[in-house]
Amino acid sequence: MIYLDYSATTPINYEVLDTYNRTSKDFFGNPNSLHELGIKTKNLMNSATKQIAEILNVHETEITYTSGATNSNNIALIGIAMSHHKKGKHIITSKLEHPSIYAICDYLESIGFEISYVKNDKEGLIDFEDLKSLIRPDTILVSICSVNSETGVRQPLKMIRQIIKKENADTVLHSDMTQGIGKVAVNLHDVDLATFTAHKIYGPKGIGILYKNNNINIAPILYGSGKSNMLNPGTPAVPLIVSLSKALRLATIDLEKRERFIERLNLKIVDALTKYEGVMINKTKYSIPHILNISLRNIKAETFLHALEEYEVYVSSNTACASGNLSTSVLAIYNDKVRASSTLRISLSHLTTTDEVNKFISYFDEVYRKLSGLHG
Ligand code: PLP
Repeated sequence: MIYLDYSATTPINYEVLDTYNRTSKDFFGNPNSLHELGIKTKNLMNSATKQIAEILNVHETEITYTSGATNSNNIALIGIAMSHHKKGKHIITSKLEHPSIYAICDYLESIGFEISYVKNDKEGLIDFEDLKSLIRPDTILVSICSVNSETGVRQPLKMIRQIIKKENADTVLHSDMTQGIGKVAVNLHDVDLATFTAHKIYGPKGIGILYKNNNINIAPILYGSGKSNMLNPGTPAVPLIVSLSKALRLATIDLEKRERFIERLNLKIVDALTKYEGVMINKTKYSIPHILNISLRNIKAETFLHALEEYEVYVSSNTACASGNLSTSVLAIYNDKVRASSTLRISLSHLTTTDEVNKFISYFDEVYRKLSGLHG
């Protein structure tokens, strides 16, 4: 198998899986229980939280465990809308977000919030002037991802924050950092709220994080008992939490070295695919190398994806969550419906080998020739 879909999800790291198994076996107590096993489990959970906070350079009380990025995005966006609606009902997001952000914004719009979509330039960067002009006294929230899941375009969140806070110091900045964390260095202090999920960083599925700066008030959208994790109450999933802390630690080492290696693989693929007349490379100078998007002229991306599957090569068309639709991100960057109608995402990892990339290039060639009617 040649797995080139690491941005959809990653295989769990065996050390993380081992942590999960051991914690499930030896620390199965409820951390809310008062007996020894409960306390032992709670202590383990607290030390995992401490480690996560240290890695992210935030305070332990700023971390909420969720079931994943979609869950975190809901708690963040709806929570801010509910807590800030008396100040205003205006929310800004970009055209380069994950579908879960659009689904939440559509819901908020249906209950009376106003959503504006900030423009981006031809490199996929948020248009600062447009952002500035959109911010109003009643703008309560801006949500902009750190890295776009389809094209890998990375946003300068620090500058975005400066623009927002200068126009309206009360506007909250949320960032979906799901495709950033574990791939590139991110700074949670650039934002007020941040979202990510363990299954994109070689951790287990079913656990994510919402970072919330302690100075930000947010209304809970879920209610329950307990004294911790109040934005997402219920019995804490300790084995998942401990695994997440391990996955985060392992995913954030050697980031630059890994990025340089992935960049070489990315360039090798770009170099090989540019020679096809029917292939367009959707890469801008702000795309991180882990995510490589291409458009196919005259071949349906899904047909291509399934043809590659015959060689046990796995890639994505659009995002895994939105397959079959126009690529909103490619459309936002290139303003070309044809280009956005048939896109493939090849996503790379430090686990990808040069041999896999060479084989991918050769299988790609075979599939391309077959599907575009070229032979020989
Ligand atoms: N946000 C981004 C940027 C993503 O890439 C994804 C997954 O594709 C999600 C959110 C959804 O994450 P989860 O599956 O943890 O809900």
